[in-house]
Amino acid sequence: MKYIIETQDSRYLPNIEAALKIVDPKAEIVQDGQGVRLIIQVEGVHVSVTAPDLSETGRSWEYYDKDILDPRYSTADRLRRMKELVRLGIIKLLGDFLGKTPPWGILSSVRPTKIYHYLREKGFTQSEIYDKLLSIYGISTDKAELLVNVGSFQERFFKPQEYISVYVGIPFCPSRCHYCSFPAVSLQTHHHWVARYLEGLRIETEAIGELCRSLGFKIESIYIGGGTPTSLELEDFARVLQWTVSAFKTGDTIEFTVEAGRPETVTREKLEAMRHFGVTRMSINPQTMHDRTLALIGRNHTAAQVEAAMDKAKKFDGLLLNMDLILGLPGEAPEDFLDSLEQVIALNPDNITIHTLAPKRAAKWGREFSELNLLDDDSLAEVSDTVVCRLSRAGFHPYYLYRQRRILADLENIGYARPGSESVYNIQMMEERQTIIGVGAGAITKWVVGTEPQISRYQNPKCPATYASRIVADIAKKAHQTRILLG
Ligand code: SF4
Repeated sequence: MKYIIETQDSRYLPNIEAALKIVDPKAEIVQDGQGVRLIIQVEGVHVSVTAPDLSETGRSWEYYDKDILDPRYSTADRLRRMKELVRLGIIKLLGDFLGKTPPWGILSSVRPTKIYHYLREKGFTQSEIYDKLLSIYGISTDKAELLVNVGSFQERFFKPQEYISVYVGIPFCPSRCHYCSFPAVSLQTHHHWVARYLEGLRIETEAIGELCRSLGFKIESIYIGGGTPTSLELEDFARVLQWTVSAFKTGDTIEFTVEAGRPETVTREKLEAMRHFGVTRMSINPQTMHDRTLALIGRNHTAAQVEAAMDKAKKFDGLLLNMDLILGLPGEAPEDFLDSLEQVIALNPDNITIHTLAPKRAAKWGREFSELNLLDDDSLAEVSDTVVCRLSRAGFHPYYLYRQRRILADLENIGYARPGSESVYNIQMMEERQTIIGVGAGAITKWVVGTEPQISRYQNPKCPATYASRIVADIAKKAHQTRILLG
């Protein structure tokens, strides 16, 4: 639908637009002509939204926010709250009219748990936060419960500013999955880039390792991801491990993860290399345990290879294992997904991460997503509820979560773990409570500064060839910025 917005304060416009997109993804704001008029008024702590065209008597919503007068809130919080209430008004008013109740309420961000931590820092209790999630953020009771559970669990992981984590990117995969929008290239077509890329990575790893030592950082966790790091040949893979350990592993490092997304890349020799270099956690990602779907999504492996990779990995004591599944893959009925889940539980990993498909334009499928046979929103939401209960019965609890743009059924991605096996890196990275220095193509560095954290961001070039050719100049920029912000 088209909307004509009347507001006395243009600062609310981005929030108005974001709220419209939540309830009406095709919403378009127009200046004049035909469109639904929305009148937004904010006076003191009173917010109202009126839509005179939506019925004969007009539709309106209003809220008098006494809560924001609580002295724990600052002036900046008050402005923020008025923007939140403008969003709430729009989703309530239009949501009723369009028959849509977004489970995440006014939240359109990738990291919903941040709301929990923001309110916690203001000094509110968990039950006060739960009430606010319902009344001010318009979140459903299930999601509010999930947020409070996950947020309260995460609090124990937050550390002082000298603790950081490191991400090392290996942007190569055996083939490209059709749904993937990560900056990774297929070794079938780009094998000739590997040597030059690794030389750039070696240079950056050594330089950033030196920088971390000179600034006295305590490196809490290391994550080698991508791409599929284990798709490198054994010798190259071992060299990456060795550079990473020499540059970043210290007595403070409590977690060292390697992503082995594709099961066919897991060999006994690579597992031995991981043991030798002190890897503590590994991810083997089936995404589905159905061969016909694996073929359809371009993964070129079978469910039997997942089982074989898990068998090999389990022989290495002390290695925590994560497995990823994707809910909503094309052609899969609810029972297919739940069957994959049962098979994964039977393989007895320590962590299970449940993603929901998020159709992205940058993926090979791009615009074709709309032509795929995908489950409807209600069925996906129902399966998602079943997953929560099933994993809880199997001894897993949710410990981090995030959302993505265009994610199906307004759902989320949730990391589950057996108690004591949670990934520190996943928590720090998602909550943006700790500086993460990224090395390698497409790797993002996020500097986190202050108690109400301010975040600055820098991304290395996504293309492995561009990365390799620019790395020396980029290291200087990154090192300079790190010294300014954290030195
Ligand atoms: S294995 Fe992972 S990173 Fe590689 S193409 Fe598939 S989804 Fe993308």
